[in-house]
Amino acid sequence: MSYNIAIDGPAGAGKSTIAKLVAKNKGYIYVDTGAMYRAMALFMLNEKVDLDRTDLIAEKSKDADISIRYEDGVQCVFLNGQNVDGLIRTEEVSAAASKSSVVQEVRAKLTSLQKKLAAEQDVVMDGRDIGTKVLPNADLKIFLTASVEVRAKRRYDELCAKGVDCDLKAIQDEIAERDHRDMTRAEAPLVQAEDAILVDSSDLTIEQVADKILSYVK
Ligand code: C5P
Repeated sequence: MSYNIAIDGPAGAGKSTIAKLVAKNKGYIYVDTGAMYRAMALFMLNEKVDLDRTDLIAEKSKDADISIRYEDGVQCVFLNGQNVDGLIRTEEVSAAASKSSVVQEVRAKLTSLQKKLAAEQDVVMDGRDIGTKVLPNADLKIFLTASVEVRAKRRYDELCAKGVDCDLKAIQDEIAERDHRDMTRAEAPLVQAEDAILVDSSDLTIEQVADKILSYVK
């Protein structure tokens, strides 16, 4: 039996950074499910699908083949055979992903890929619905959160470090809007699983959060 750790939480809580550290420490595979939703959103943008039309998204999603490969232990996402890692981290794709991920057909397709990955190997998987829907029997479930102000400031600092011109208030509004959409959608909304451990990273360093989670791993 594989050992599965589920980490869920809102945008910018530090899920991917923490999940990668925990995976590295335990020698597990890190599975970034957000990247799969982003690849699907990129496909919809490329195909110029109206993102307010869930029926069109459902239909088009049949043509998107999304797969994961690992190169030197790092997850790479492929969309119809092309590595799209360099194309999915834009604000445009973030917003599009939170729209196309409400569609049941999109979720069914990506959830089955995620379940398969976790059945085959020990994983740390992060997302929004991992503890509730994808891996309801995960060995350890963490709900990682932080205040919207802290999450926006982290994103702002990240973009500034890259030399991107940005506005803190606009980032905060965008995160709050995305949280709202992720938490209120009908299909697999972002919610803490009953048996998940709540970790608030607002006043903790990355190492402190990772140590805390590692202390829960049996
Ligand atoms: O985690 P990340 O910010 O990369 O996710 C992008 C978007 O994909 C989220 O805002 C959410 O709408 C969607 N998503 C999801 N379920 C997951 C992971 C991500 O709906 N398990």
